Amino acid sequence: MSTLLEIKHLCVCYSGIEAVRDLNLYVNAGEMVCLIGANGAGKTTTLKAVSGLLTPSRGSIHFEGELISGLAPHAIARKGLALVPEGRGIFPRMTVLENLQMGAYTRSDPAEIRRDIDEVYGLLPRLAERKQQIAGLLSGGEQQMLALGRAMMARPRLLLLDEPSMGLAPLMVQAVFEIITAIAARGVSVFLIEQNAHLALKTCSRGYVMENGSITLADDAQALAANPAVRHAYLGE
Ligand code: ATP
Repeated sequence: MSTLLEIKHLCVCYSGIEAVRDLNLYVNAGEMVCLIGANGAGKTTTLKAVSGLLTPSRGSIHFEGELISGLAPHAIARKGLALVPEGRGIFPRMTVLENLQMGAYTRSDPAEIRRDIDEVYGLLPRLAERKQQIAGLLSGGEQQMLALGRAMMARPRLLLLDEPSMGLAPLMVQAVFEIITAIAARGVSVFLIEQNAHLALKTCSRGYVMENGSITLADDAQALAANPAVRHAYLGE
């Protein structure tokens, strides 16, 4: 299995204070990997560094063997990484269709873009029903689906997901995770950040636990879910 994303000795600071410290992790092609941890552990900071929104103070991030740390977010996106940020980041005044078209902004193949929009509608029929609706009027779950659909329009090889369950009702959380699994089944690798450790470990094959800016555990998701320390701290047991 080839390594898609490789993070080595990553440190990220805010005004000189380290929020991420000597972090090492990798995602292989075809894998679904999660990073779990409490509020403020440094998960979002890690994801922002991978997507180019924050510049690491030390360490390196490689994607398909190529150094991407230090590149601008749009240059990283062009290499095949698509971020679905916390809060979804959709354009609330645009329609569902316009949001999907925006997701393809790096592409210049109109026929293929139309075909991919149809494919997204096939994967997410709720979006097809609401294609002319203003995105800001969608429910939270539908907005999360739109954010996933928009990310798919860039034809990513790695999807970076920041807390997709955030603020959603349990049934909608289930639906969103089924969609993420369906996206992965199409060959897109997934790096998922979640506070809902139960769901993240059930969905992914491997996981990392982050505490106070550092990785404290790394293992198969099943082994993590069975680990007494994880069960106590993150699974409410
Ligand atoms: P959450 O689930 O709440 O998003 P997280 O694990 O994603 O938590 P981060 O948001 O990465 O954690 O935050 C890590 C640390 O960095 C926290 O102590 C946080 O207060 C701090 N931090 C985050 N953003 C900033 C910022 N813009 N300026 C200064 N400190 C920040």
